[in-house]
Amino acid sequence: MAIELLGKSADELRALAASWGEPAYRGSQIYHALYAERRFDFAGMTNLPAALREKLSAEARITMPRIVRRYHSTDGSVRYLLALESEGAAPVQVEAVFMPDTKEDARRQTICISTQAGCAVDCRFCLTAVLGLNRNLSAGEIVGQVLVALEDQREHLLPQTNVVLMGQGEPLLNYDAVMTAVRILLDQRGVGIAPKHVTLSTSGIVPGIERLGREKVRPKLAISLNASTDEQRDAIMPINRKYPLAVLLDACRNYPLGPNEWITFEYVMLGGFNDAPEDARRVAKLLANIPSKVNLIPWNPGELPYKRPTQESVEAFKQVLMDKGVFAFVRISRGQDIMAACGQLALIESKEIETRGREIKERETKERGVLRPPRRAQNDTL
Ligand code: SF4
Repeated sequence: MAIELLGKSADELRALAASWGEPAYRGSQIYHALYAERRFDFAGMTNLPAALREKLSAEARITMPRIVRRYHSTDGSVRYLLALESEGAAPVQVEAVFMPDTKEDARRQTICISTQAGCAVDCRFCLTAVLGLNRNLSAGEIVGQVLVALEDQREHLLPQTNVVLMGQGEPLLNYDAVMTAVRILLDQRGVGIAPKHVTLSTSGIVPGIERLGREKVRPKLAISLNASTDEQRDAIMPINRKYPLAVLLDACRNYPLGPNEWITFEYVMLGGFNDAPEDARRVAKLLANIPSKVNLIPWNPGELPYKRPTQESVEAFKQVLMDKGVFAFVRISRGQDIMAACGQLALIESKEIETRGREIKERETKERGVLRPPRRAQNDTL
C-alpha cells in the first residue's frame, strides 16, 4: 500500500526520508513543497532530486480532497462539497467554505473546515446532527480542506488567511487528528498561518478544552454557548447534561490565556427562545471574570421551522451585554443563498433531506410543549 503523505508532520517526513537512505533534510523539503508551496504531485516537487521523485511516485501518495461541486454565493463566498477518499477509510463527503472579506480594504479570507463527517453531538439547531457521526477525519483530510480551497482560489487570495474549525463535526472529539492538522497549519514552515488566525469552535467538551489549554501552540478557542440557563441549554444542546454551564465556564475561567487573548462565545439567537434582555443579563453574569467576546448570530429562516429574532431584540441584547462590559458583535451568516449551515450540502447530496425534514418536523410536533427552540446549524458564521 502506498504511504499517504498528506497529514504527515515534518518529523514524520524526515524519518521517512531517512528510512529510505536519504538525508533527513529531504523530508523537510517534501514538507515544504507539500504544505507551503502546495505541490500535490511529485513531478512538481522540483526541489527534490529526480531519483527521489521517482521513488515517491512509486511508493507514496498525496490524496487531496476532491471537489465534487462548488456553490457560489452572491456575497462572494464559495461552498465546496468535498469527497474524501483516503485509502483504508470509508469514502465520505464533507463541506468547506471559502469566504473572502468583502470590505473595500479587504485583506483576508476565511476558510471554514470540517473535522468529522457528520457529528454525534446532536445539537438541536444543527443539520449536521441529523447526519449522525459517519467517521472522524484524518489529519490529512482536515489540512487538505484548507489546501484545496487555497489552491482553487489561488488567483483571488488576499494577504491573510483565517481558518475556522466550525464545519461538520465536534473538533475536540477528534482531538489527535485535529491537533496534528492544526500544528501543520500553524507551522511557519508548513501552511504558515498565525495562531491568532485559526479558531477552534467547540460545543463544550470540557476534557478537550482542558487538554487544549495544555498545548504549547494552539488555536484560539470559541465556545458555542447559545443559552443563558442550563434548562435552555439542555433543550438545544444535549451535551450540556454532561458538561453543564457551571462546569463548562469553570473550564473557560481556568483556560490559560495570554494578555491579549480572549475566548469567543457564539450565541445563536433564536427568536422567542433565548433572545430576551434577561437572557443577555444572565449571559453577562455567566461570563464574569472570563476575558471574552460574544458573537450574536441571528437565526435565519431555512428548511427548519424556526423564528428569526427581531432586529430590536438583537440590538437590545447586544446593548445589555455592552452595558455590562461584555464585548458583543452581531454576525451574519455568509453564503445564505448557497445553504451556509453546516451539513446542508451533505444532506442534499445524500438525498435524505426530504425524509429527514419530515422526521424532524414529526419530532418537533411530538416534543411541542417541552421548552423547544428553533433548530438549524449556523456554525460557520464569523
Ligand atoms: S453544532 Fe457542531 S457540535 Fe453541534 S451537532 Fe452540529 S456539528 Fe456537531
